[in-house]
Order: sequence, then C-alpha cells, then structure tokens
Amino acid sequence: MDCLFCKILAGEIPADIVYEDDHVVAFRDVNPQAPTHILVIPRRHIATLNDLSQEDGALISHICLTATQLAAEQGIADDGYRLVWNCNAQGGQAVYHIHLHLCGGRAMHWPPG
Ligand code: AMP
Repeated sequence: MDCLFCKILAGEIPADIVYEDDHVVAFRDVNPQAPTHILVIPRRHIATLNDLSQEDGALISHICLTATQLAAEQGIADDGYRLVWNCNAQGGQAVYHIHLHLCGGRAMHWPPG
C-alpha cells in the first residue's frame, strides 16, 4: 500500500516516535507548526475520518486519550494545546491515513486558516 504513514509503521521510513502500543503510534511532525507538534495515528490503515464507523469508537477514544496523555508528558497540558483532525481536500488533509495533530507550546489563533 502506498501510504506514507503505513511505511513509518513498517519501519521503512524513519520517524521520531514518542509513544507506541498495540493500537496507536505517536511521532513528531517532520514540519512542526508549533514547538510541540506530534501526530497520533492508528496502526490500522484508515484513509479519512469519513471511513470511520461506530465500531471504531474505542480506537478514536484511545487516540484522543493518547494525545492528552502526551500533552501532559510534554508539559503543555496546563498552558493549553490544540488537537486537530483534517479531513479531505478542503479540510487540509495531505496524508490519507487518519492522524490527530497535537500542537502546543505557543498561543493558538482562532479561527483557523
Ligand atoms: P495533514 O495535512 O493533516 O494530512 O497532516 C499531515 C502531516 O504529516 C503534516 O503536518 C506533515 O508535516 C506531516 N508529515 C509528512 N511527512 C511526514 C514524515 N515523514 N514524518 C512526520 N510527519 C510527516
């Protein structure tokens, strides 16, 4: 499968992995948009949020809770951070393997661009 994040999961492309378990892997974004910018991805290939079903609820919960745990470990939980899911072209999705962005270490702006 020609998926960048599947290649990272397979060890074919290097990544700065900060957490992994049986279901998810988290690694630093190669082009960080904030002092802390980590991506949390499922091991299972899921192309977009539109491909999720009710059966994926536990997995999505686990991805979110992994991000909040990492925020605490990275020391950005108290000051605050942003979690972002991008979906499809107008959502700004570039890699078609779902991923949750954890961004922090600076003040975020609203509305997003
Ligand atoms: P998105 O636009 O939501 O699909 O985000 C994809 C993210 O993947 C971007 O923030 C990229 O900087 C990041 N990215 C692309 N290639 C790599 C890589 N090899 N290692 C880590 N992050 C990557």
